[in-house]
Amino acid sequence: MPGVLDALNAALDRQYDKSAGAVLSALRQELRSPAVRNAMRALDAEAQRLAGLGQPLIPSNPVYRAMLGAVDAALRKAVAHAEAVTYALQLDAAALGNATTLQLAQLTAGQAITTVWNSPDPVALGRIADYAKSSAWQAQFGGIPRSVIDQIGRKALAGVASGRNPLAIAEDLRKLADNIPAHFFNTMMTTLQLTSYREAAAFAQLQNAHILSHQVRVAARDDRTCLACIALSGEILPLGVRVDDHHNGRCVGVPVVQGRELSVVTGQDWFNGLPTARQRSIMGVGNYNAYQQGAVTLNDFVGEYHDSVFGRMIRPLPLMQILGSNARQYYGR
Ligand SMILES: [Zn+2]
Repeated sequence: MPGVLDALNAALDRQYDKSAGAVLSALRQELRSPAVRNAMRALDAEAQRLAGLGQPLIPSNPVYRAMLGAVDAALRKAVAHAEAVTYALQLDAAALGNATTLQLAQLTAGQAITTVWNSPDPVALGRIADYAKSSAWQAQFGGIPRSVIDQIGRKALAGVASGRNPLAIAEDLRKLADNIPAHFFNTMMTTLQLTSYREAAAFAQLQNAHILSHQVRVAARDDRTCLACIALSGEILPLGVRVDDHHNGRCVGVPVVQGRELSVVTGQDWFNGLPTARQRSIMGVGNYNAYQQGAVTLNDFVGEYHDSVFGRMIRPLPLMQILGSNARQYYGR
C-alpha cells in the first residue's frame, strides 16, 4: 500500500506543478513587474525621507497606498490566470481519484479486478467535485487580492503602532507582498485538488459497492502530520463517504474488497510506539505533558469546522480549546 500512496502523491504533485505551478510562477512574475518594483522603490525613498524627518509611516501616506495598489493589480492578474486552470486541475484530480481507488482495491483484493470495476464516466467525474464553479469558491477566490491587501495593510499598521522605523516597515512589506499571496494561492489550489480527488474516490467506491465492503482512513505519517489526522488514521468509514480533512491535508480512504481485511497500524498505535523525544516534538510540549498525564486522548485533538467551499473539514484543536484554563498547567515544564 505505501507504494500506491507514494505514487499517488507523486501524481498529485505532477498535476499540481503543471497547472497550479504555472499560476504561482505567473504570480511571482507579476509581483516582480516594473510597476510593483517601482512602487516598492518609491516606498523605500519615502521611508528614507520620513526616517530623516523622524516621522512615522502612516496608512494614509499616498506612496504607501500607491504600493498597495500596484500589488493589488498584480494579484488580480494572477487570479484571472488561476481561474483558467482551476477546472482542469479539478478534472485531473477527479480522474486520479478513480484510478487510484481501483489500484488500492486491487491491492486489498490481491488480484486484478479491472474487469468488474465500474469507472464513472468523465462527465460525471467533472460534475461531482465542481468546487471551482461554486459561488463560495468564486467569492473566496475572487476575495484573495482584497484579503491579502488587507493582511499586508494590517501588518504595516502593526509596525506603525509599535513605533518601528519606516525603513524596516518598508522591508517587511516587500517580504509580505512576496510570501502571503503565494501562500494563499497554494492553499486554495492544493485543497481544491485534494478535495476533488477525495470526492471522486468516494464516488468510485459507491459505483463499486458490489465488490467493496468499506474504506479505511489512512494519513501520511511524518513529523508534519497533525494530531487530528494521526488520531483518525485507521478509522473505518462506510463506502462513498468523502474523507474530510483540513486545507492542504493528505489523508485518503483505502477501499477494502469484500471478504478481505486491511490491517493498518492505527495512528494511535504508531504514535504510541514512537520514542518520547519524537512524540514530544510532534505534539509540542504542552500537548505532550497533558497527553502523558492522561488529561487528554489523541481523539480529543480532533476538531471539526465548516468551510464555505469544501463543507465539513477536520482540524487539530489547540489544548486551550480542549481543556480551557486547565491547559495552562501543562505548558512550560
Ligand atoms: Zn492533519
